Amino acid sequence: MESSAVSDRAPGPVLLSRSEIQKRVFEMGREITRDYEGRAPHLIGVLKGASVFHADLVRAIELEASFDFIAVGSYGLTTRTSGEVRLLKDLDESPEGRDVIIVEDIVDTGLTLDYLVQCLRMREPASLRTAALLDKPSRRQREVPIDYLGFEIDDRFVVGYGLDYGQHYRNLPDIHLLGN
Ligand code: IMP
Repeated sequence: MESSAVSDRAPGPVLLSRSEIQKRVFEMGREITRDYEGRAPHLIGVLKGASVFHADLVRAIELEASFDFIAVGSYGLTTRTSGEVRLLKDLDESPEGRDVIIVEDIVDTGLTLDYLVQCLRMREPASLRTAALLDKPSRRQREVPIDYLGFEIDDRFVVGYGLDYGQHYRNLPDIHLLGN
């Protein structure tokens, strides 16, 4: 399915403002800095949704850090997952022997993060943790650990700060509920 230039649905009310997000991401960066003292975490961002969060999180970490990106897909243009996770772009570098943190925008059913954790574990990192900006625990199908979490939210579809609806609204600075 192709995405169109203009979305059929508008962004609704703000759920999390840019200042709330900034404050929380800064705290997450501090936690990671403390936990990884003396090491160089390798932050793997999950494209495209986590790109904005990843960019802010890496700058909140006061350590030597490296990063890479991976892309997976399951949603198409709807607000419900298809249940099938596909690898769209693999890592550029091997994560073997590195202290990897997977950086995800939102954990919904958990299928995507579970797939990524399994996929990364096989590549023998020195350690593997996960960071997610948002968690929708009510829709979980796979139990997957989130080591660093920004916010827990209800089962509502959200857009902005990297999150999209049919490739729209990723550039909104705040996180909004999807409107009509
Ligand atoms: P899961 O595999 O069901 O956990 O879904 C994870 C992926 O679905 C996330 O990385 C997002 O790309 C997408 N997703 C889930 N909920 C939302 C939402 O509310 N807004 C935008 N994307 C979402």
